[in-house]
Amino acid sequence: MNELKPSLMDYTQKELLEFIKPSFRAKQLFGWMYHQYASNYDEMKNIPKSMKEELAKKYLVNPLKIVNKEESTDGTIKYLLELQDGKTMEAVWLKMKDEQKDESGNVFQEAKYTICVSTQVGCKVGCTFCLTAKGGFTRDLTAGEIVAQVVTLKKDNNHKHNRKINIVYMGMGEPLDNLTNLTKAIEIFKEEEGLCIGGKRQTVSTSGLSSKIDRLGEMDLGVHIAISLHAVDDKLRSELIPMNKAHNIQSIIDAVKRFPIDTRKRVMFEYLVIKGKNDDIGSAKKLVKLLTDIKAKVNLIYFNPYPGTDYDRPTRADMVAFQEYLVNHGLLCTIRDSKGIDISAACGQLKEKTETLN
Ligand code: SAH
Ligand code: SF4
Repeated sequence: MNELKPSLMDYTQKELLEFIKPSFRAKQLFGWMYHQYASNYDEMKNIPKSMKEELAKKYLVNPLKIVNKEESTDGTIKYLLELQDGKTMEAVWLKMKDEQKDESGNVFQEAKYTICVSTQVGCKVGCTFCLTAKGGFTRDLTAGEIVAQVVTLKKDNNHKHNRKINIVYMGMGEPLDNLTNLTKAIEIFKEEEGLCIGGKRQTVSTSGLSSKIDRLGEMDLGVHIAISLHAVDDKLRSELIPMNKAHNIQSIIDAVKRFPIDTRKRVMFEYLVIKGKNDDIGSAKKLVKLLTDIKAKVNLIYFNPYPGTDYDRPTRADMVAFQEYLVNHGLLCTIRDSKGIDISAACGQLKEKTETLN
């Protein structure tokens, strides 16, 4: 990891101001990176050549390269991105809402998008249902590599810097296992003269490292959290997510109760539904009990099979019955429609496919 050159995207504006003088140059660089989406120094027309040469010796601008792209009919685009050391990871462009037009065909509301970003190459948590886990852990992403995913995808989709975008940390890796770089990236995203993506627009998804949920909460960055719960008893949860042995369900629930959330918002609990494992009404009943004192919202996710997995996708009827039970017992619950199901949708699947092809 030592040989990695830092990128200008690793720094907040305040940090850039410390080593780039005069200060207006630091602001110009910020504009080039986050408003014009410049990938390299050549594009930065109003920065003196000598300064660019000096900076180029030490820092990259955008450290990512698009190496593969799969587009689904529903507007989802899955990107395989290469890092400077040749390693790859994924980011996904998700269309959440189509543009709205009036009778004369004028657009009165633009389409809404969310970007799903990775925080690590691989993952240490080792969930038995997850393809990312199969390849083991390679390395943490730097803050700049996390930030650059959003810049790269916005640029590739001609999405102007001032158009709103949501970020979900649901790509490859466990965000809280890379807490320092994650929180730095969150702050860089929030920069008013940069991408200006507020905490409210950023959701950190975690497999439940309870002590780190507390640490993230203490930083009070205003972000949302989503908990990948997936099971209601510790025996099954430890089978699915081995690290549950150290951070059990109760410790996660307690950490969530301590997490600072906007009083109007809810904590999202993701529940991956696997046929014959956790799709029965008994589990739904326990879930209701577990979440009684929490302002929660449950998102049911169909298990997305891949070659070699031991698990199966649940039936639609079982999904709906599960959802109905939760809703009838006062829990908000949605079923996540598997966006991009016709491409390699779930986390880690595009990387796997591209590597087996090559
Ligand atoms: N490590 C974090 C964030 C990345 S995983 C976490 O676990 O929350 C993002 C989401 O993808 C998680 O909710 C995870 O459970 C889900 N996921 C992993 N493999 C999947 C699969 N095969 N089908 C459907 N969802 C999957
Ligand atoms: Fe890691 Fe999340 Fe995959 Fe589990 S589901 S192995 S925590 S990326």
